[in-house]
Amino acid sequence: MESIGTRLQAVKGRIAEACREAGRDANSVTLLAVSKTFGPEAVRAAHAAGQRAFGENYVQEALAKMEALADLRAQTEWHFIGPLQSNKTRPVAEAFDWVHSVDRLRIAQRLAEQRPAWLPPLNLCLQVNVSGEASKSGVAPAELPALAEAVAALPAARVRLAGLMSIPEPSADGATQRAAHRRLRGLRDELRARGLVLDTLSMGMSGDLEAAIAEGSTLVRVGTAIFGAR
Ligand SMILES: *Cc1c(COP(=O)(O)O)cnc(C)c1O
Repeated sequence: MESIGTRLQAVKGRIAEACREAGRDANSVTLLAVSKTFGPEAVRAAHAAGQRAFGENYVQEALAKMEALADLRAQTEWHFIGPLQSNKTRPVAEAFDWVHSVDRLRIAQRLAEQRPAWLPPLNLCLQVNVSGEASKSGVAPAELPALAEAVAALPAARVRLAGLMSIPEPSADGATQRAAHRRLRGLRDELRARGLVLDTLSMGMSGDLEAAIAEGSTLVRVGTAIFGAR
């Protein structure tokens, strides 16, 4: 099996090629390495190969991993990307730099209340259900504007509304992938037209990052293609 460093380089190559095809700057897309289910040594190997941003889905697993990697904390950025229950917001507010999976106001309010004052604002993305009833998490597009305005009004010293995130229904068809990603970009554009400042479109994973980049993704969340099958 290829090393994590080799696979990381291959993913960076895919991102660079997708940016080239889309006429975009290769630096306009951030690679988030999704390390869920893999141990601290896998993260350490990716870090040694130059990776700095890591995504985690489960609070307890992430906290244990962060503790084992405490020596790298100043050089790593931790993103929470999994479903978040309101009784688990405190450790997330205290330990992470980003949360991509905010889908209701109550969660954002708790994160804002619980974000320690001595840390920079926690970056938030609103998770949108772009595939309709098939997927259950994420705010419905019709409810997104009200949620975005309410989150943007929370204390700026504690939380920053950065953008939108989606996990579309998996599809092997490039046109279907692009249609779902285009929907999220359209919603981002509507919010911008309302005056909200959003710089992040968190969309695209191992199987659809090219389609996501073609539709304007600024951050791709890649697990399998870097760390292997889960
Ligand atoms: C697991 C996960 C990913 C990574 O998926 P891969 O297909 O392994 O690249 C991305 N985003 C979220 C929200 C995930 O849970």
